[in-house]
Amino acid sequence: MEHLGSEELSAAVQVNKVAEKIRCSIAECYLLNVDMTDSETVSKIEYHTSCSVGFVMFSGSSVSAEELLKYADLAMYHSKKMGRNHISSFEPTMQKALMERTQLEADLRQSIVNGGEFELHYQAQVDCNGKVLGAEALIRWNHPIRGRVNPADFIPLAEETGMIVGVGTWVLQKGCETLVLWAKDSHTKHLKLAVNVSSRQLSQDNFVNQVIEILELTGANPTRLKLEITESMVVDNVQETIAKMHTLKKLGISFSMDDFGTGYSSLSYLQKLPLDQLKIDQSFVRNLSFDGHDSAIVKTIINLGENLSLNIIAEGVETDMQRDYLSKFGCLIFQGYLFSRPLPEDEFMAMVFSKTTRQD
Ligand code: C2E
Ligand code: MG
Ligand code: MG
Repeated sequence: MEHLGSEELSAAVQVNKVAEKIRCSIAECYLLNVDMTDSETVSKIEYHTSCSVGFVMFSGSSVSAEELLKYADLAMYHSKKMGRNHISSFEPTMQKALMERTQLEADLRQSIVNGGEFELHYQAQVDCNGKVLGAEALIRWNHPIRGRVNPADFIPLAEETGMIVGVGTWVLQKGCETLVLWAKDSHTKHLKLAVNVSSRQLSQDNFVNQVIEILELTGANPTRLKLEITESMVVDNVQETIAKMHTLKKLGISFSMDDFGTGYSSLSYLQKLPLDQLKIDQSFVRNLSFDGHDSAIVKTIINLGENLSLNIIAEGVETDMQRDYLSKFGCLIFQGYLFSRPLPEDEFMAMVFSKTTRQD
């Protein structure tokens, strides 16, 4: 658009008006002719569509057309992110966020090639007497310049870009090596290890073969391995997921449904999935002591688990009060800071040794 004047604000108002006009015109309903396959008739159906608009303001020619289109594109993606059917103006922060993300992606790619920057930490899963039954493996990324990057800051990116497949393979391999190490010691040989599996990983055609290969390569006992999946990953490909789970279960591997209650849970899927455990999400545990709604949700999940013959574990248990509520409702396995933080391998082993020695 040209001749918008020299006042930035009034120019932006004019651009917004035009963009809004375009958005509204496109949002009007269309009538489309549809050929019915089984007859000669042509039907008309109503069709609605929406559009996401992005624009960038500029004056002079110091920025190339290519750059400007890139900025407008970023603004358009922002509109999509807002739930589509929006209009956004380019802001420099969008460029900054993109650059940070691109750098993080490049660093992560490099780390996968280099190796040696990932580490597994182990967080205890305990029974109501505090006895350690096993642990959840949680990845840590120690970047030479960034320092420790938390999984919440790189796992979603790894999932979006597909890099999670490489990361997940590393986690599974390292986890299985740990199981072999545990098997050698009387204090740790009974422990189970829960490994998080992302949806992208599970949907790989060769996922089952890869797990089998890693088990064979490391010599880990499959009955000590538990895979944590989430509700969202099941919904996309139910039949395929069920088939993969059955194959792995035949080997002795068990399955836990992570973050249970936060995703799209269909009770009919839940019944069909060969699960062993439901993991109550920490968001419900957090307010357990005083929030009536969360207590009701937790009780419902526990009843559901009992009816489906699944065992129940609660994550994010931080206080005695939360533990007491949970056990009163019938949840007898816990994970959380109250018992132990996620620990490096040697510290985790030392913690188990000291606990079992004390109990002996
Ligand atoms: P998650 O699987 O639900 O793991 C539980 C998260 O809660 C962990 O965060 C853990 O450190 C934290 N946590 C444990 N106890 C408490 C507690 O008492 N209070 C609070 N506030 N938090 C607690 P972390 O390690 O930052 O991991 C975050 C998420 O990243 C994990 O959630 C999981 O979805 C993902 N993740 C971690 N490691 C892996 C991995 O190896 N593969 C994949 N695909 N995802 C992973
Ligand atoms: Mg988990
Ligand atoms: Mg969880």
